[in-house]
Amino acid sequence: MRAVVFGEYGDRSVLHVEERPDPRPGPGEVLVLVQASGVNFIDVYQRTGAYQVPLPAMLGSEGAGTVLSFADDVLGLAPGDRVAWTGVPGSHAEQALVPAERLVPVPEDVSTEQAAALMLQGLTAHYLTHDSYAVRPGSAVLVHAAAGGMGQLITRIVTHLGGRVVATASTPQKRDLATAAGAVHAVPYEDALDAVREVTGGIGVDAVYDGVGKDTFETSLQALRPRGTLVLFGSASGKVPPFDPLRLMTGSYFLTRPTLAHFTASRPELLERAETLFGWVADGIVDAAVTGRYPLDAVAEAYAALEGRQSTGKLLIIP
Ligand code: NDP
Repeated sequence: MRAVVFGEYGDRSVLHVEERPDPRPGPGEVLVLVQASGVNFIDVYQRTGAYQVPLPAMLGSEGAGTVLSFADDVLGLAPGDRVAWTGVPGSHAEQALVPAERLVPVPEDVSTEQAAALMLQGLTAHYLTHDSYAVRPGSAVLVHAAAGGMGQLITRIVTHLGGRVVATASTPQKRDLATAAGAVHAVPYEDALDAVREVTGGIGVDAVYDGVGKDTFETSLQALRPRGTLVLFGSASGKVPPFDPLRLMTGSYFLTRPTLAHFTASRPELLERAETLFGWVADGIVDAAVTGRYPLDAVAEAYAALEGRQSTGKLLIIP
């Protein structure tokens, strides 16, 4: 089978497609024919060494496809079942070995592509809006990079929960996408604080969802109402520099830097979130917004689009 691998940390030139022996399931494992695999920033952080992984490494963290075979101790699955996963290295490949406990079944009314596109970002958008800061009817939140994969999903879910979204994005086209996803106000980054003042009557937002990091962190803090929550969930523009906690005293703010693994650590929690997410897809509340599909050989192109701020919504690798 063919897979995307890298033997050293670096730019996209370290990525190459390699022929590898077909994997065989060990105890608790399932072999899946990968039909689609999501393009995510975690793969960028791993490739550049921002998140250290043992080298050589296989790229790709999420995907969906059909079950080919499984170990004797795996129960409740049959060859041909449609399944999806996230948090499994080596997903940009024709076949993937996935621990059975990390697989979720894909319901009939959700396509395999949608499942692959939503596992990482959709489950993340779920915990961000329900656990990191629990959105209530009337909540006002600021969402950065609102035309991106995460940004559109958060905007749709907050709006569905009765909250109001002030959105930032870099271009008019991207701001139109944020508005289409439900934002009440979509503005360039430099206008974020004015827009927050306007929408909240000068009070500040209840929460900020910030996946941009270095370039937006200061604005995010300033946008909060007293006792508001800054949910820093990514660093698309780079890592936030060291920070003095005393600064939180300005408004008794809450600052959290969450990651999906801790919100899907148990199987019941993983299944419960996935069921809600797929229900939203079936009901038309969220949409995977797939805007690009790339074969394995064009993997560097896909990441160039994501890292170069060219993409909106979700990009997929189709092995
Ligand atoms: P996006 O599709 O949102 O792409 C990133 C966007 O960030 C760009 O399109 C761009 O939008 C904006 N951006 C601003 N500055 C930069 C910059 N210097 N370089 C690149 N992009 C920039 O990506 P994803 O939806 O895949 O991910 C968004 C964030 O969510 C990432 O930081 C990722 O790590 C994080 N994440 C965190 C998870 C968690 O559990 N903590 C799980 C999943 C994702 P614009 O042009 O409008 O500025």
